[in-house]
Amino acid sequence: MTKKRVLSGMRPTGRLHLGHYFGALKNYVAIQDTHECFFMVADWHALTSDYADTSNIRENVIDMVIDWLSVGIDPKKAVIFRQSEVPQHSELFLILSMITPLGWLQRCPTYKEQLKEIQNKDLNNYGFLGYPVLMASDILLYKANEVPVGEDQLAHLEFSREITRRFNNFYGDVLVEPQALLTKTARVPGLDKRKMSKSYGNSILLAETDEDIAKKVKTMYTDPLRIKATDPGHPDGCVVFAFHEIFNKDAQTRKQECINGCVGCVKCKKELTEMICEFSRPILKKRQELANDKKYVEDILKEGSLKAEQVASQTMKEIREAVKL
Ligand code: ATP
Ligand code: MG
Repeated sequence: MTKKRVLSGMRPTGRLHLGHYFGALKNYVAIQDTHECFFMVADWHALTSDYADTSNIRENVIDMVIDWLSVGIDPKKAVIFRQSEVPQHSELFLILSMITPLGWLQRCPTYKEQLKEIQNKDLNNYGFLGYPVLMASDILLYKANEVPVGEDQLAHLEFSREITRRFNNFYGDVLVEPQALLTKTARVPGLDKRKMSKSYGNSILLAETDEDIAKKVKTMYTDPLRIKATDPGHPDGCVVFAFHEIFNKDAQTRKQECINGCVGCVKCKKELTEMICEFSRPILKKRQELANDKKYVEDILKEGSLKAEQVASQTMKEIREAVKL
């Protein structure tokens, strides 16, 4: 039986955080043996919001691949490539742009949310509006069956499905409708309860020192109704508890202890800190080893990009044929 194909990407906007890992990356690692995987460094996507200052982009690409390798993404199993090294992505983006109704983009919930939440950058750009069109191009070029993403990307994936149907309607059955592959924790909250995001400044990195983890957990939003440790707590909607659900095998016991006022927030945070540190330590160690060998990472990307282009150019041939160009 042929393996199902997967494509997923992340924007190289700096070191990865727990949201990236538990929302998507954990699935990348899990499916390397069971699926044919293409993992993309989405550097063109990084330009949609970080276009004004691109001075860090190359470094960010390397940093992100190091994070991937540190958690167990294996270049012998998966194709790891850089979007901007495979020009077919921009060609399909152009063709899909022609058949994309503006309303589909304007009503996209992530588009509206980010315009509202991100105040320090001007996002009133054609490229930012067109983010889902580029993402659809990325996926459809590989005829990917499944796309591991976090919940915030579901609307974009729905767009990919809709544009596939529209394309196939016009030009014949060439493109494949992709399905989302969600993890158990599809939305990881940040320290302040909003979605964990680099741009919101509310994140804990994947590889962070014990000291920084402790500092950050201390700032997590806690129950204002809970003054004494023996007051009954409210785990539902509590950020600290949301992280216990990710890290603590015995989260259900903790939930009861909190509700019954048996364990206070200080102790609860301390235990959480230790669990996150334990998770982070080996990743930090691995990433420090890899950081000394940037050429190794560059070579992985070069080789992966050549493999990706072979698949992409074949699909593009079929697309040109179908559109009668
Ligand atoms: P940031 O918001 O920190 O800048 P990003 O959203 O730009 O990161 P993307 O490249 O868009 O990063 O996302 C990479 C993957 O990580 C996507 O699949 C996305 O769904 C997932 N992801 C990012 N943040 C979270 C989160 N807080 N919870 C769950 N999944 C997340
Ligand atoms: Mg995002």
